Amino acid sequence: MHQKTVQAVMVRGAHDVSVETQNISWDEEQVLVRVERGGICGSDIHYFQHGKAGMSVLKSPMVLGHEFVGIVEQAPYASTLHAGQRVAINPSQPCQQCKICRSGRQNLCRSMRFMGSAQFFPHVNGGFAQYVVVSPQQCVPYAEYADAKIIAFAEPLAVCIHALKQAGNIAGSRVLVTGAGPIGCLIIAAALASGATEVIATDISERCRALAMTVGASAAYDPRDEIISSSWTADGGLFDVCFEASGAAAAIASVVSYTRPAGIIVQLGMGTAEVNYPVGPLLVKEIQLRGSFRFIDEFTTAVRWLESGKINPLPLLSAEFSMEDAVTALETASDKERAAKVQLTF
Ligand code: ZN
Repeated sequence: MHQKTVQAVMVRGAHDVSVETQNISWDEEQVLVRVERGGICGSDIHYFQHGKAGMSVLKSPMVLGHEFVGIVEQAPYASTLHAGQRVAINPSQPCQQCKICRSGRQNLCRSMRFMGSAQFFPHVNGGFAQYVVVSPQQCVPYAEYADAKIIAFAEPLAVCIHALKQAGNIAGSRVLVTGAGPIGCLIIAAALASGATEVIATDISERCRALAMTVGASAAYDPRDEIISSSWTADGGLFDVCFEASGAAAAIASVVSYTRPAGIIVQLGMGTAEVNYPVGPLLVKEIQLRGSFRFIDEFTTAVRWLESGKINPLPLLSAEFSMEDAVTALETASDKERAAKVQLTF
């Protein structure tokens, strides 16, 4: 067993985040990775602000972060990894043994150990630390020429590629994306790269609407704009597929009327508010409502799409801070009017 003392970004509860010393240990079968940089996700912000993210409530201190890249420091002798190799880290560790895992739906594993998540107890520490210990399977090597800033978007892009898969073949479709934060914007880019004819976005923030246009949306509206309700509900609904990425109660309810008969809604915004759900329109139009949670092997696809330049996430990168300024970074990332994606360097 090897041991090391590292600095890590720890959350203990709402507004209780600090950089602390932590002891890590690893064995001959594990990989030690020196973390280069990591992106702050909505769930990190929720743990920071409320001590919980959706249904995952903090019960003990946890190292934040599940979107990160690094450099292999020490790898098992028997693996194909080697010291100095640049890797994106897949934060999911499904059990691979349960019925759900064996059916190929590892993202739904009830024994999932997802880094930086309080979904299950004991919580699993995340990657916002100088070094992390992971399994060889979690490491996805990427090309030397690729920029770590770009590859650090692999995890959120994987979430979006999985959501696209949930929608089925979207080639030739007219698509609506509600919520144009980092996830909504990556869905816009990924939907266009997957053959959508047209992607329209909504967000209450003007800054987010501008970002949606930057990544390729053909139009972006304030959801309170009255033009929408008349033109988008004509003929039973304008859109073939809606990706609901805001989690806002009003958006969750309204996409039902904007989706055409027999259309598809993919829900990936994690809402906590009570929704007055329009069940009637859902059933008379036979709309298919599909949940989307995390990702399976789409993580590797995401690394390849970023490496090859198929998706350029850099318009979404608003700011970067060093680990010591983690609290300022979290505060900056919390303000949608100031920032989309904020990254930490280690
Ligand atoms: Zn499992």
